[in-house]
Amino acid sequence: MAAAPVKHFRVSYNDIHNLIRKATPTIAKEFNPDLLVAIGIGFFPARVMRTFLRELTDNKSLTIQAIGLSLYEPAPGMSEEQIGNEVVRTQWLSDAGKKLVGKRVLVVDEVDDTRKTLSYALSELQKDIDAELATRSPEEAAKLRAETKLSIFVVHNKDKPKLAQLPEGTPYWAGETLGDLWLDYPWEQTDIEEHDKAAAADKKALKQ
Ligand code: 5GP
Repeated sequence: MAAAPVKHFRVSYNDIHNLIRKATPTIAKEFNPDLLVAIGIGFFPARVMRTFLRELTDNKSLTIQAIGLSLYEPAPGMSEEQIGNEVVRTQWLSDAGKKLVGKRVLVVDEVDDTRKTLSYALSELQKDIDAELATRSPEEAAKLRAETKLSIFVVHNKDKPKLAQLPEGTPYWAGETLGDLWLDYPWEQTDIEEHDKAAAADKKALKQ
């Protein structure tokens, strides 16, 4: 039996901007990150969140670092079997451990679907943190380990069974939780006016 077609839901830039605006005060209050790590196209949401965090906190020089991870999009050297099954690194932080140690790090992505990407990102960042801590004295490592925190913000979370887990207790915020829809993002479009019209219709239909 053929799988049922996935229902698409189109999202506008303004909706994304407003979801981030609404989520940021809680994140500023509960976590107050001193570094944002954007996953791939999560760079756009991270950049918007930086605007609101700078407004709400004292951290005016908040920086964004980017990592590239691919689950569905073919990347150089990826086999057919890997596409859609395995998360592959396409870009990573240089000196990741040094950049992360002692920091409250907010990992930002646009969507949490199966959770494989977020789970992979956190476990790989943690490996870099552990490797850096192994170079420090036991006292310094213990202090820095307690200070280093990884958390997550996604614009959209999909309410569905997840195929991978996050470390227990990881602070996690989502702008909005939707059903198992395929989200069409504005940055993937060539005709943004058409997309915006369709996004407005999709939003109206969802509310009905
Ligand atoms: P994961 O399944 O690991 O949670 O999501 C992996 C990646 O798949 C996301 O970072 C995103 O690039 C892509 N993805 C998952 N669901 C959607 C969706 O509904 N729309 C779009 N455009 N990309 C998605």
